[in-house]
Amino acid sequence: MKEKVVVVGVNHAGTSAIRTLLTQNPEIEVIAYDRNDNISFLGCGIALTVGGVVKNVNDLFYADCGKLEALGAKVRMKCDVKAIDTDKKELQIVDLETGEEFKDNYDKLIYAAGSWPIDFPIKNRELENVEICKLFQHAETLIEKANDESIKSVAVIGAGYIGIELAEAYHQKGKKVTLIDMQDRVVPTYFDPEFTDRLQNDMVAEGIDLVLGARVTEYDGIDGQVKKVITTKGTYDADLVIQCVGFKPNTELLPNADKLPNGALIVNSAMQTSIPDIYALGDTAAIYHAALKRHAYVALATNAVKTGIVAASQINGVEAVKLESIAGTNAICVFGNSLASTGLSEEAATNAGLKVKTSYFADNSRPEFMETADKVSCKLVFEEDTLRLVGAQIGSYGEQSHTECIYYLALAIQKGMSLLELAMTDVYFLPHFNKPFNFILSAIMQAVGLDYIKK
Ligand SMILES: Cc1cc2nc3c(=O)[nH]c(=O)nc-3n(C[C@H](O)[C@H](O)[C@H](O)COP(=O)(O)OP(=O)(O)OC[C@H]3O[C@@H](n4cnc5c(N)ncnc54)[C@H](O)[C@@H]3O)c2cc1C
Repeated sequence: MKEKVVVVGVNHAGTSAIRTLLTQNPEIEVIAYDRNDNISFLGCGIALTVGGVVKNVNDLFYADCGKLEALGAKVRMKCDVKAIDTDKKELQIVDLETGEEFKDNYDKLIYAAGSWPIDFPIKNRELENVEICKLFQHAETLIEKANDESIKSVAVIGAGYIGIELAEAYHQKGKKVTLIDMQDRVVPTYFDPEFTDRLQNDMVAEGIDLVLGARVTEYDGIDGQVKKVITTKGTYDADLVIQCVGFKPNTELLPNADKLPNGALIVNSAMQTSIPDIYALGDTAAIYHAALKRHAYVALATNAVKTGIVAASQINGVEAVKLESIAGTNAICVFGNSLASTGLSEEAATNAGLKVKTSYFADNSRPEFMETADKVSCKLVFEEDTLRLVGAQIGSYGEQSHTECIYYLALAIQKGMSLLELAMTDVYFLPHFNKPFNFILSAIMQAVGLDYIKK
């Protein structure tokens, strides 16, 4: 008998799993449910479309149901999975268009229900023009408001990467932007002050009103429309508010599975949860974090796609395809700052109880005998006693981006390498591109006491 796989959620993780399942094994039975009416929407393009860099929001899709059905999947959109009986291996589903309720059953369940923006309790949340940012539908609203002349001021709450990108986008559209966060730095989870100080200065120089260390306490409005954001540090005009304070995994349907405190489902390297025959992907999953040496929640599209490939391969018996660990590699490109990080920042490592040291090195990207160069900088975070690399940050300022160097630093973290091993990586030197002692190697040498490069 054919094995039957049911997929709950068909965005990046679900799409990746379905494509892999049926490409490896066209005979397998795959049925997928999603409560939304579209699949594969790239949220990373929302700010780019708001700011006018991407002209058509419809270009932010890379798949559709027809493509998955052509592979052999049965995809049912606007179908909400209401409950999962993990003993009977049975799902309860409601068709949101007809209201019809029905059941389905599975041999293997791929749980790819993703995440949803955290909505904090706040007075007057129901006012109009208080928005969140995740779906294609949100993108349409946010783009429409960006082009609405009556909206003069925008408050973005949360200075993570999505919040900063939106702040830049609305600034590009000529709005007065206030960016508010409880923390005292922007993107503090990923970057230390060596990078965030410059980014913050550049934002303020551009005209962003940056309000850090402030808690939002309530909204105020006129005629049902938001007009002000009230914080512990002051009150700010806002014809539009966008809440970007993080994401919560949608895992309520599996109450008995092993989870992290935030609800993310703990998975092994095969993406199996603690419940037999249930695999968790993407933004629902907590994966082993190589730097922390424990499971962590890192909600990124990169992990969504990888976990989809792994779970599908495992179900199809291609067991060599595993995801042993992640390092949380990410990047941001805003206000002339191209930044990438992997693993833990110094602050995150210290908060996690690791005993770390750091090495920061800033330089020109290529030799001074070349006519031009970019400014580049690197910070390495490593364990004091073992020199194991646990984090790296790269800053790149200029014509070319040098952020992709982060890839080999991510690999070093995933492989548990020390600075001494990393120093011997066989990298190239060519004056067109870099220096004989490039800025990463220089940071390593400085860390181990060979700091004659700067002298
Ligand atoms: C604005 C923005 C910018 C981003 N930028 C980047 C970036 O630059 N780089 C990067 O790597 N990541 C980025 N991300 C993160 C990335 O989009 C997510 O990690 C990714 O969407 C996770 O994919 P997923 O398939 O696991 O979950 P989701 O995208 O959350 O999809 C889950 C799917 O499950 C469906 N679903 C949920 N519950 C049910 C149910 N009960 N029944 C039926 N269907 C259900 C939903 O409708 C949805 O289609 C960004 C995210 C946002 C919002």
